[in-house]
Amino acid sequence: MSTAKGGSIVFFSGGMFSGKTEALFRELNRYKVRYKVVLFKPLKDKRYSQDKAASHNGLTFDSQNIASVKDADNWLEANQVDVIGIDEAQFLDTTEMSLVEFAEKWANKGKAVFVAALDRDFEGKPFTGIPEFWVASDKGKKFNAICTQCGEDASFSHRTVDSDDKILVGGADAYEALCRACYLKIANK
Ligand SMILES: [Zn+2]
Repeated sequence: MSTAKGGSIVFFSGGMFSGKTEALFRELNRYKVRYKVVLFKPLKDKRYSQDKAASHNGLTFDSQNIASVKDADNWLEANQVDVIGIDEAQFLDTTEMSLVEFAEKWANKGKAVFVAALDRDFEGKPFTGIPEFWVASDKGKKFNAICTQCGEDASFSHRTVDSDDKILVGGADAYEALCRACYLKIANK
């Protein structure tokens, strides 16, 4: 069990529209009753709100907006909280501090650290640092969306607009969830 007393790292990963942000909010809301909670979100993610993190289906949670993992670390050095959440962690700059380094530092100090992140980029490749973060986590869950083409469980986020940028922040306007078979069919066209 992850309590704010013990210290732990929990990872919610998966593709877009898979419900990982909702899972993160649910945990933070549970702890909010008794513990001090902070949620960080990348400045890059301005899809739904500037000062709140938001899920694709409209749930929101007040957030501290940061550019890098080091920003979250600096904030935590100056503020006292028990539970730490990061949404869309794959968008954060990790030049000065990796996600693993961050999460281990604060979990080792007794904090409960919850991180939600995309595991694969639009080409189906792992996002930098995400495989390592899986190994560093104490527990976690990989979430699936529903394939927009066939209705099977989806684990790929397919870009529906023309761009080669590794990071293109978007929602249903730019991405669709696909299962492996439909991804292979569409991506290899
Ligand atoms: Zn499919």
